Amino acid sequence: MPIGGRKQAPIVHELEEASVTSTLSGRAWDVSGQWNRMLESRVLTDYSYEGLGKVAALEGGESLEYCYGCGKCVPVCPVDLVSEYGPRKLHRKVQTGMDLFTSDDLWKCTTCANCLRVCPKEVNMIEIMPAVREAAVLAGSVPEELQVVFEKTFRYGNALGENPRRRHGWTKEAGVEVRVLSSDPSPVDVLFYVEDYWSYHPRGQQAARSFVRILDRAGVDFAILGAEEKTIGDSQRLAGEKGLFEALMEDVVTTLAKYEFARIVTPDPHGFNALVKEYPKRGHVFEVQHYTQLLAQVIDRIPLSREINKVVTFHDPCYLGRHNGEYDAPRTLLNAIPGLNFVEMGRCRENAYCCGGGGGGMWLDGFNSNHLSERLSERRVREAVDTGAEVLAVCCPYEVSRFEDAAKSTGNDHLEVMDIAELLELAMAPVGEEVVA
Ligand code: SF4
Ligand code: SF4
Repeated sequence: MPIGGRKQAPIVHELEEASVTSTLSGRAWDVSGQWNRMLESRVLTDYSYEGLGKVAALEGGESLEYCYGCGKCVPVCPVDLVSEYGPRKLHRKVQTGMDLFTSDDLWKCTTCANCLRVCPKEVNMIEIMPAVREAAVLAGSVPEELQVVFEKTFRYGNALGENPRRRHGWTKEAGVEVRVLSSDPSPVDVLFYVEDYWSYHPRGQQAARSFVRILDRAGVDFAILGAEEKTIGDSQRLAGEKGLFEALMEDVVTTLAKYEFARIVTPDPHGFNALVKEYPKRGHVFEVQHYTQLLAQVIDRIPLSREINKVVTFHDPCYLGRHNGEYDAPRTLLNAIPGLNFVEMGRCRENAYCCGGGGGGMWLDGFNSNHLSERLSERRVREAVDTGAEVLAVCCPYEVSRFEDAAKSTGNDHLEVMDIAELLELAMAPVGEEVVA
């Protein structure tokens, strides 16, 4: 309504007049002005179906066609909160002609599985994305920083491009004996599969040392592969390098076949995921545990007597929680620490917000900084701070350094990020006071 209080006449864009003939009586009559607006049909099919067909033709890409547009996936997609992304939006873009194989959207999904959890049609981005990425990688269409990681993994057997001979360098300062199977190949209960970030990253090494000191105090028989260990490479598979993953798997099972062990225990939810889901598909079946599961089993043998009087919250790793259903083991450990005040974040357990590191996201921060309004790890750190927590506890080797960076970049330096193994070790009684309460 204009200020003068009078309505303005609408601007009519419709045809001046049109003639309509009844299909029943055969009579014709004229309609004019705005009443004939529906006589010119909208063009709904002015795009090619080729893009959707190309995705659906791939093994693993089929389910993109199942989408019926309900939109349930969009509000739970962590990437949609920081860009225009959710699976339904992606489906619509592909349906209306976007070539996903060359689009930047291809690299945004972290394969966190929150959309699959709610999708009534089981549109499976955890299969769609790796399938399309594999084709893109073969065509040479891959972000440069990811290509660098693929090459390092291929050449050195780890994503960081570190010298394989230095894989167990961290054990020198562990303060307890860490048996390396190539030096002492006698049978062992726990084969501790250290993986890349606990082997090489300084913050990961600290957690690895805490873990072996706890195992030592709990009397667990364990050993590592040392220089023989290669990454399991599940994130490389999800980022599109299936061939590299398969080659690594051959190397890994050949090495494992040399030794006798009861179970494999790893801190890496991604390696854990591959060992329990991908390896059995090729006939390689092992007893596998995440390190929090092992520690929860032996919690009564860990002498926890020092109080940690801090408010602590916990981030569920997607590949331990949503992908493999383990929510309780990390919480059992945190709740066993004397004095610790555990608080949950609003988005936790099956609805936990992704840290952004899965599906290759760990190595795409540069790429994502051009496409997202903020990093997923930054958003998650804000959620942790909102609980009033002083410590953000994690149990995935990607996360300590990821969240520490995010705490700095969001101005939340006061938030400590600690691996659960580090927290447990802090709570352990001094050596010599072994009586467990
Ligand atoms: S929840 Fe599934 S069916 Fe619904 S819009 Fe998302 S992908 Fe499509
Ligand atoms: S898997 Fe996660 S990041 Fe990928 S589309 Fe689904 S909800 Fe979004």
